[in-house]
Amino acid sequence: MSDAATYLIVLQGLKQELEDALKDANSSAATVVLDQNSIGRLSRMDAMQQQNMAMANQRSLSARLAKTHKAITALTIGDYGYCETCGEEIAEGRLQFYPESDTCLSCQSASENQ
Ligand SMILES: [Zn+2]
Repeated sequence: MSDAATYLIVLQGLKQELEDALKDANSSAATVVLDQNSIGRLSRMDAMQQQNMAMANQRSLSARLAKTHKAITALTIGDYGYCETCGEEIAEGRLQFYPESDTCLSCQSASENQ
């Protein structure tokens, strides 16, 4: 595993990025409603679909942000990089792509296939 300080910098950057993206997502979810009322050009279905997408996006951003917070806490107590499910070390390649990961690849795919 690489230096914890490196991961901390990466995770703090990610946290900032996700917080910004979430702010944008919140305002775009609000914009859909506004457009529907003021312009009325979108069909109701389109507007609902757009809003569902915006809300799904918000949910996934919030979930990643929560994981990022957890990962930062884990780093500060020296418990970072271990799978929450099986306790094995998470592969470094995975952490480089998804530094907020709290499960190893096999536990992640097992939970997605349920
Ligand atoms: Zn695992």
